Amino acid sequence: MGIIRILDDNTINKIAAGEVIEKPASIIKELVENSIDAGATEISVEAKNGGISYIRVVDNGKGIQYEDMDKAFLRHATSKICSEVDLNYINTLGFRGEALASIAAISKIELMSKTAENEIGNRIYIEGGVTKVKEQCGCPDGTIITIKDVFFNTPARLKFLKSETREGIYITEIMQNLALSNPNISFKYKLNDKLVFSTKGDGDIKAVVFCIYGNQVVNNLIEINSSKEFITIKGYVGNSNIAKSNRNSQSLFVNGRYVKNKTITAAVEAAFKSLITINKFPFYILHMYVNPEFIDVNVHPSKAEIKFQDEQLIFKAVYHSVRDSILSVSSIPKIEDKQ
Ligand code: ADP
Ligand code: MG
Repeated sequence: MGIIRILDDNTINKIAAGEVIEKPASIIKELVENSIDAGATEISVEAKNGGISYIRVVDNGKGIQYEDMDKAFLRHATSKICSEVDLNYINTLGFRGEALASIAAISKIELMSKTAENEIGNRIYIEGGVTKVKEQCGCPDGTIITIKDVFFNTPARLKFLKSETREGIYITEIMQNLALSNPNISFKYKLNDKLVFSTKGDGDIKAVVFCIYGNQVVNNLIEINSSKEFITIKGYVGNSNIAKSNRNSQSLFVNGRYVKNKTITAAVEAAFKSLITINKFPFYILHMYVNPEFIDVNVHPSKAEIKFQDEQLIFKAVYHSVRDSILSVSSIPKIEDKQ
């Protein structure tokens, strides 16, 4: 007799959760991205104990109908693409239909949702991938997801988490990037019952920077706003007063998605050459819009690294745009280049 078995769905989901859901912060990222894809204009996020004991995401998006309440938790179940052809035209943050299945496999999750067309909402409660309750209930238009006891049934993964404080910091970083990348959405973020920040959602990036980083940063920003035929760059770089000894306050969004790219970091830093001391790094928040054909698509679930087809071209565009903006602001003191 052969010894190879096909694993049951629950086990498959638990294994898949390992790829998509590294930590509570990844859950929050997936849930908020779903809210954004659902067209929400207001998103509120709460986490307790580093997100391990409690996460709640509330949105005013389009909601989920009764028929789709369980389907949303099936693996490879998505409303965002229909077929292979759609993979070439993805304009949503999600499309793999993996997040909810993975999250439900390793936590206790309650989903309450209502669409504007329906009078009444619905509620589903799933524990470790097993549906315990599905019923109609009254709730506002939109979706409320509450998650408790992350990794309660995968102790090995629970053990690998960092301290609650550290996990809380990861969540705050994710929330900052989500708010900075979506200035049109109003975010409210609470950690351990304390409001960390809230944003207005009026489209003003500088206002979001103020909500997150405060006055000192906002008073030392230089605006970037340049448009060439293939690339538009908008956002802010910080002058030498707010340069830091690490790169923690550098955020890049390409076509609305938070990404990392060494070429762009290098281009911004090169633009600051001789304007800030060598061992300091500039603050920046840049939104870039490029034709998707300039990007080497990499569809790995959590890959935030992006590669451009012609990195040199992008380097030059970013370098000149930032350098021109910095030099047009006279208050920047020039520091002797020690190199
Ligand atoms: P994906 O986002 O890749 O489609 P998910 O597992 O994250 O996969 O979500 C599955 C489906 O559940 C989505 O395609 C969407 O139809 C629905 N869904 C999830 N979250 C929300 C939400 N906040 N509002 C409306 N629909 C949602
Ligand atoms: Mg999703």
